Parts: sequence; C-alpha cells; structure tokens
Amino acid sequence: MVELTLLDHFLFIIGEVTLLLLIALGLLILVLLILTLASFHSGRLYFPRILKPGFTALEGVMRAIFKFIGLDDQEMLAFSVRLLNTMNLKAFAAIPVNERAIFLPQCLRAARCPAHLTPEGLKCVSCGQCGIGEIRPALEHLGYRVFLVPGSSFIKRMVKQYHPRALVGVGCLLEVKEGLEMADKMHLIGLGVVTLKDGCVETLVDWNALFEVATLGLDPSTIPVDLHVPAA
Ligand code: SF4
Repeated sequence: MVELTLLDHFLFIIGEVTLLLLIALGLLILVLLILTLASFHSGRLYFPRILKPGFTALEGVMRAIFKFIGLDDQEMLAFSVRLLNTMNLKAFAAIPVNERAIFLPQCLRAARCPAHLTPEGLKCVSCGQCGIGEIRPALEHLGYRVFLVPGSSFIKRMVKQYHPRALVGVGCLLEVKEGLEMADKMHLIGLGVVTLKDGCVETLVDWNALFEVATLGLDPSTIPVDLHVPAA
C-alpha cells in the first residue's frame, strides 16, 4: 500500500479546492448567461443585483461568450448601460437636485458653435444653433449644475470642485458605460443617456429623455410647466 506524505495530502487538498472553485465559477457564469439571455429576450432586467457585480467581475469572459453566441459588442454595451442605470435609479431619485450635475458632451454642439472653452468647460451662449441653448437654462432652472465638456478629465475636475453626489452623463454607448463606471469608482450615483447619433460634431440626443432622467425624484409641483425642452 502506498503511503501518502504530508505534501501529497496538501497537493490533494489544493486540487480539490481548485476543482470546487472552477465548478463554482462555471455555475456563476451559467447563471449570468441565463439571466442575461432572459433579460435580452424579455426586455426586462432579471435580478440586477446579481447581474451587476457578476458582469463587472467577469466582463471579459461574458463578452467572449456573447461574441461566441452571436451578440455583438454594441448589444453588450447597451445591456451594461441599462443594467448600471437600473441599479442607480432609486438612489439617484433620492438625491436633492442641487447635489446633482449634468455633463453634456461637446459633440452635441452645432459645427459653428461660438462657445469659448473655460476652465469649467465650454460656455454656451444660447446662440440658437443647437438644443443645448434651450435645455441648459431649463436644467439650471431645476437646480442642476450643467457642464458642456470636451472630455472625462473635465468631469473629474468639476466633481472635485463642486462635489456633486449624483451625475447624469450624455454620450455614445461606450462613453456612457465608461462614465458610469468612473462615477461608481468615485462613489457617485450616475445615470447615462445615450446619444441617438454618434460622431464628433452635431450628434443628437433625445432631450425629452434627458429631461425625464433629470426630473427623477423631483416633486412635480416644483417643475414649471412652461419649461422649454427642445425637440430631439
Ligand atoms: S446653443 Fe450653445 S452649445 Fe449650441 S451652438 Fe450655440 S453656443 Fe454652442
């Protein structure tokens, strides 16, 4: 009969633990896959509290699996944004509007925008060439700080300066996803609104969708009925 040494026992235990961890990881991936596919299929998010940390921890693996089964990167991004937004809705609505900020990307401006760059981003002069000139005063009227920014470094700077507890970011799918992750890391509650058209200039956003997000949690009686929201 072969006698097992202490080292053999140790290696045996390591092998068993590794096997159990691999089985647990496989099961977790399977659960995430089922929940994600079911959410895709129904248009509803199932168990977002499980999906969000699972997705964050296993994003690379999940992306590879979804690519393998024919879902493209854009669908994955849209799903991640929806997931992150859904998780933050309630907390966002609970934060007073004067502790929230809105960041608009400079690509929403008209090509001949006369706004000048300042240390706090571009200063819109409401020239009437794009919707920012109308939505900015409406959002500021609600109590928001609104920034028109050329990049994420401005967002970080403004957050450090004004200490908002929540923010709304507008951008393309990738920008919004990265922005929401950045907000998470900075312990801020973030919501994202995805642009209708990508590009570097004259992109489009649904201003009503942004206004709807901006008014989350606000007492309807505090929202003037005559606030003008531009058409998309
Ligand atoms: S409305 Fe404001 S952001 Fe839009 S083009 Fe005019 S100055 Fe630029």
